[in-house]
Amino acid sequence: MTDYYETLGVSKSATQEEIKKAYRKQAIKYHPDKNPDNKEAEQQFKKISEAYEVLSDENKRHMYDQYGADAFKAGAGGPGGMGAGGFSSMEEALRTFMGAFGGGGAGGGGGNDSIFDSFFSFGGGAGGGHGFASQGASKKTTITVSFEEACKGVEKEISITNYVLCDTCSGTGARGKEGAKTCSTCHGHGQVQQSRGFFSMTSTCPKCHGSGQIISNPCQTCHSAGCVKKKQQIKVPIPAGIDDGMRIKLAGHGDAGERGGPPGDLFVYVHVKEHELFHREGDDVIIDLPVTFSEAALGVKKDIPTPLSGKCKVSIPEGTQSGKVLRVKGAGLPNVHGHGKGDLLIEVHVETPVQLSPEQKKLLEQFQELETPKNSPHKKGFFEKLKACFK
Ligand SMILES: [Zn+2]
Ligand SMILES: [Zn+2]
Repeated sequence: MTDYYETLGVSKSATQEEIKKAYRKQAIKYHPDKNPDNKEAEQQFKKISEAYEVLSDENKRHMYDQYGADAFKAGAGGPGGMGAGGFSSMEEALRTFMGAFGGGGAGGGGGNDSIFDSFFSFGGGAGGGHGFASQGASKKTTITVSFEEACKGVEKEISITNYVLCDTCSGTGARGKEGAKTCSTCHGHGQVQQSRGFFSMTSTCPKCHGSGQIISNPCQTCHSAGCVKKKQQIKVPIPAGIDDGMRIKLAGHGDAGERGGPPGDLFVYVHVKEHELFHREGDDVIIDLPVTFSEAALGVKKDIPTPLSGKCKVSIPEGTQSGKVLRVKGAGLPNVHGHGKGDLLIEVHVETPVQLSPEQKKLLEQFQELETPKNSPHKKGFFEKLKACFK
């Protein structure tokens, strides 16, 4: 017998805050996005979501404390009823997860409203009850863009195969108006009321499986499924400044919902290719700049490529040391959420000259004779410390 408290690792007297905290911690660990193709993690994720669904609701928790998990096992969730009939589907578990992470709220925004976010901030969320009409499955896919495309933003077209509403029957699954009859068991409600001991429970109608209709003459196109598989081209707007691993949500571009439910969403994971010159750190862009020994000593002006505006002129001051970082404000990447721009960081690398000609060697030897400790303050400091060590 499952102990929901034990599953979440909290005490029987735990506060709602403690329960939420414990659930979040475990949910992140076992989330399917983090454990692809891991059946054990999936089971665990469902388990903790089920436990949270009950314990996070004071009424359900009270019932559970009194009567145990059996109070919930008999009927799978009717709308607003006892949601936790043991999560058979991952969707259910994920919905609970989204709720706990503050996604909740009103049903997702419309159309092309896309949010981009890092790993766990689900937006939108499935609003309201579940049971009768159910949301279509959400999909995920990956898209690869070049560094330049990520800098400037780009629109990419992808093709994805989704279940869409069957055109022939408009999703009813029946052939013509006469093809479907109202279910006689539930009178079209899709649910039946049952009394068991203390409780009156609502459960999915066993005859029509919740559709409220019995199809006597099935649609020839979809064979009563109400939806068909269809390959679709979808345009994905990639916002400027997107970083590797970020995700774009295309609301409503998943599978069509069942029985009039809302469609699922499409999550596009973006992979940004590495660039030969630029490295990225947040919105800042780092570039390594090799300079010669004489340029570093005498100072020099250089044209530096920038990710967005082509190039900029930068003064390397006289006496610049290797490893010095020069910052060009605002020449980095635009912030993906529209919060300004990052900087361009130029890391100077002084290259020691190699393959010297006899003439160059001679000049350097002359230079060496003229060198004073003042020319190399670091070296001077180092030897003074060294002396102090061996005293
Ligand atoms: Zn029925
Ligand atoms: Zn059809």
